[in-house]
Amino acid sequence: MPLDAGTYAPVPDDLIVRAPKVLLHDHLDGGLRPQTIIDLAEASGYGDLPSTHADELARWFSEAAYSGSLERYLETFKHTVGVTQTPEALRRVARECAEDLAADGVVYAEVRFAPELHLERGMSQREVIAEVLAGVAEGCAGAAAAGKVLRVGLLLTAMRTATHSREIAELAVEYRDQGVVGFDIAGAEAGFPPTRHLDAFEYLRRENAHFTIHAGEAFGLPSIWEAIQWCGADRLGHGVRIVDDITLDAEGAAHLGRLASYVRDRRIPLEMCPSSNVQTGAADSIEHHPIGLLKDLGFRVTVNTDNRLMSGTSMSREMALLSEAFGYGLDDMRWFTVNAMKSSFIPFDERLRTINEVIKPGYAELRSELADRLERAEG
Ligand SMILES: [Zn+2]
Repeated sequence: MPLDAGTYAPVPDDLIVRAPKVLLHDHLDGGLRPQTIIDLAEASGYGDLPSTHADELARWFSEAAYSGSLERYLETFKHTVGVTQTPEALRRVARECAEDLAADGVVYAEVRFAPELHLERGMSQREVIAEVLAGVAEGCAGAAAAGKVLRVGLLLTAMRTATHSREIAELAVEYRDQGVVGFDIAGAEAGFPPTRHLDAFEYLRRENAHFTIHAGEAFGLPSIWEAIQWCGADRLGHGVRIVDDITLDAEGAAHLGRLASYVRDRRIPLEMCPSSNVQTGAADSIEHHPIGLLKDLGFRVTVNTDNRLMSGTSMSREMALLSEAFGYGLDDMRWFTVNAMKSSFIPFDERLRTINEVIKPGYAELRSELADRLERAEG
């Protein structure tokens, strides 16, 4: 019996890197290159870094992020935000973000950042947005020159612990024809329910604008329920705790509560970030991550990086970990990727074009290449 190239697992690493991937949940300030942090700290006189050696600094970030608490995890951002307070610094990290995603085989990404966190040295929120847009455009142009296809849409994030969400929602609408595709709220979840920002969400809905909400990561079902039923979120950032509304009986059959049913029935996309969820304690291991169950049950699951620096990860690494843990093959990777593209905030016809012209042909090519390899290995 010849091995099936669509279901064969684990998928070889080189094919995972080359496979077209779509990323919906990635924080700009969570993806800096360690050496860039050091360079930027030096240029701006930022003296608080725990190390000025790139390898050591990378290790420090991953260890600090592995503490098991969301609050501790968020502390690591003090440094990445601390060194990105000038136009040059922001433009550089945005450019490098696009370069790194393109090199990793990402074909479409939504990258989010909070303008309000970059104002310490006198930039305005509009300047922050303009620099990130310019940096991303440079990175994508560079990738195109190197033969890689990458499109990036930006999401403006408001900090849920602060009070600027309405103003930032207005900026998201102001810049929607210039590369900003949506809005998000992020930050410590417990004690800061999404309904605190209802004004921003109601404004966005009146403006026919898209938004996602970090919900169901550190905090459970009430947060997910508010995000969907009060705020009207298009997608859920993480949403892992939706499993709290699913019970398995003695035979292993799943029973969905009303909220879990609603999320599945309405095809509400879940932006799952496996490594990040293990780091913050939202899941106890990749093998036990709820993504396996939710995929089996047909939820609209997507795979994401969250914070590439803190988790020491990439889209390829997340896919490789899942392929290893759950036996996912190229067909499953394609399913996650199509799910993500369908759930993106760009217009429907453009999503469809990327699916039909980039994703499907890309996976078909890799499938036949893997089939050849398997045949040769058997022969
Ligand atoms: Zn996040």
